[in-house]
Amino acid sequence: MYKTLEEHIRQQVAPAALRAEFRQHEFEAMRRFCLLVFCIGIAIWLVFDLIVSYLGEQDFTWLSGVFIALLCCITVVLGFTRKSHHFDVLNLLFVAVLTLAMRLVIEGTPIAIRPLWLVLGVSTVLYTVSVLPVRRWSFFCAMAITWLTLSPFYHTHVQVLELEGAMLLSYALFLSGLVIYSYLRLRQAKLHNFYLTKVLLEQAYVDALTEIPNRRSFMAKAERQLQRATPGQYLAMIDIDNFKQVNDRFGHDIGDEVLKRVAAHIKAAMGPFEIARLGGEEFAIFFHGLDQGGVESQVAGLCQRVREDIARYPVTVSIGLARVDSGDTLSVALVRADQALYEAKHSGKDRFVLWTARLATGG
Ligand code: GH3
Ligand code: MG
Ligand code: MG
Repeated sequence: MYKTLEEHIRQQVAPAALRAEFRQHEFEAMRRFCLLVFCIGIAIWLVFDLIVSYLGEQDFTWLSGVFIALLCCITVVLGFTRKSHHFDVLNLLFVAVLTLAMRLVIEGTPIAIRPLWLVLGVSTVLYTVSVLPVRRWSFFCAMAITWLTLSPFYHTHVQVLELEGAMLLSYALFLSGLVIYSYLRLRQAKLHNFYLTKVLLEQAYVDALTEIPNRRSFMAKAERQLQRATPGQYLAMIDIDNFKQVNDRFGHDIGDEVLKRVAAHIKAAMGPFEIARLGGEEFAIFFHGLDQGGVESQVAGLCQRVREDIARYPVTVSIGLARVDSGDTLSVALVRADQALYEAKHSGKDRFVLWTARLATGG
């Protein structure tokens, strides 16, 4: 079952908006990792610079200071970067400065060992960039910059058509191919996983018929609101009146239409609050930040809105309302709203009733 679903989703092409959402999501999830990579990059370069400066008897020049300052500045900017497309540019800048700085260090080594260290430098940079959350254009630009700045054929004794040159060229092609392939596959796998998770979460938390949140979603969100303990919390339970008759007289399809219409009314009228279809023809709303007068006018307005909807199959709704006091659990609130709803049904329907202790005792 999971495999079939996964395959079905893999065959779909992710829309552009979803790709953009994925990139942002991935960058946010990996921002700390990117910061770590930048810091490690600077630290490794600094160690090599110091080794070459002192053991290689080169001076630690002002240029090294400039590179460190630039690399640190870019890393600080990354600390404040929140958009994935800004990181695409920032990473390119970092790669450009770092590879130039690496070139500086390697230029300080004997000419015979330069090609080896240049290729080692290229491999490290390319591998690292391939796991960072960058877009394709940024990845390929970083690759081009790296090869250009750290080319083992520039300022070394290596000639392309000689033995060492031919071997280096073959290795360069092999390395680039491998890194490109793994970068593209990794991104595709991550995008598919993101898409799959999103689709499955949507299906798990959204009611398929009315397209508003379902009971599972409501319980989770209402529970969170309860824990926040914001003042003025109320729970409303809504039930369509005589809905069975709608089904019996006009058929199940019309019944479904009516359910969708009522859900649309609830969604339109209760925008800022948690709403859900609890099941069947029952809905719920979790209010917060309202006083009793405010919440009563909201539910009265909903009753009126449904009642006055000039549709082919008019219906009305009854609403049970319960205040949620601090320390109340969600199930207590649901029971109270249900008792109030029962009272609304038995006192004539098409109205709301606010729960009082009298309703609990059935008095
Ligand atoms: P009351 O005013 O007391 O609420 O009466 P009622 O007829 O609305 O209440 P009852 O609970 O007896 O009927 C609910 C009906 O809702 C029964 C069931 O067939 C129908 N129902 C539940 N889920 C769906 C659905 O998804 N689509 C349709 N068309 N009907 C549904
Ligand atoms: Mg019912
Ligand atoms: Mg009903």
